[in-house]
Amino acid sequence: MQILNGKETALTIREELKVEIDGLKEKHGRAPGLAVILVGEDPASQVYVRNKEIACEKAGIVSSAHRIDASVSQEELEGLIQKLNADDTIDGILLQLPLPKGLDSQRCLELIDPGKDVDGFHPMNVGKLMLGLPGFRSCTPAGIITLLERYNLPTSGKKAVVVGRSNIVGKPLAMMLMQYGDFANATVTVCHSRTDNLAEEVKAADFVFAAIGIPKFIKKEMVKDGAVVVDVGINRTDEGLVGDCDYAALEDVASAMTPVPGGVGPMTIAQLLINTVQAYKEHVGA
Ligand code: NDP
Repeated sequence: MQILNGKETALTIREELKVEIDGLKEKHGRAPGLAVILVGEDPASQVYVRNKEIACEKAGIVSSAHRIDASVSQEELEGLIQKLNADDTIDGILLQLPLPKGLDSQRCLELIDPGKDVDGFHPMNVGKLMLGLPGFRSCTPAGIITLLERYNLPTSGKKAVVVGRSNIVGKPLAMMLMQYGDFANATVTVCHSRTDNLAEEVKAADFVFAAIGIPKFIKKEMVKDGAVVVDVGINRTDEGLVGDCDYAALEDVASAMTPVPGGVGPMTIAQLLINTVQAYKEHVGA
């Protein structure tokens, strides 16, 4: 079985971006800028934000983190987003979710300038994805497609099953897989908690994408021989971080699979950097 090493691939992408950014900086007089807004003290969010800051720094992107107390009002938070929208040195704005109770995350996401929406959550960018138009793509699913490209595993003509229909992973991933292109063009089935005969649906797939949030949910018997398995799940258990797939058992059936950790997670951050550079290029006219 081939291990789809997201950690290594993300590192390669970061190094490639660093070279590109060095050149762009010289030509356009400034580095790409990413503003990250973190509200409250959620420990997992703090780790994600720190990892994003480190990745930005290493690639030559200037990241500014706005760490805000959970007691912030909706108005104050919206004021900060508007300020960042108007700041010419900021190319991307990322609002780390989830927000503490009492704050309306959808309103905040809709306030972010779609041209700075490097997370791809603004309805404008979600709509562009649906229509197959250029725009910012949500980082986790776009990072998965980038990983498949880097390992030359085209999905064109293949059966793909996406287990999970969240707005940040399952739905946009399914939408990307059904667009035109070698790393799209799939015949896509989306499964969720109300799917009858889920095991049968998964078994028919050449590509299995698991974004469920239940440790080791996808078992060996559910997967077709030779399928490519992409495990999005990150579950904190007594065993440590565990994916949504039974990795050890699936090693006997899958032809390629992403590990957890070190698979989709690092690709999500790499895609954020790619999207930020894309926003920067649009802003400076590169
Ligand atoms: P959500 O909780 O938003 O969505 C989970 C989906 O799984 C839902 O659509 C739900 O169905 C479905 N589901 C739940 N239980 C079952 C079941 N028994 N059978 C079939 N389907 C089921 O999760 P996310 O999409 O946000 O995240 C999924 C996983 O991916 C999590 O482990 C998360 O931590 C991880 N993640 C990893 C990222 C990364 O960078 N690697 C980024 C984002 C998430 P229904 O809609 O019917 O409720």
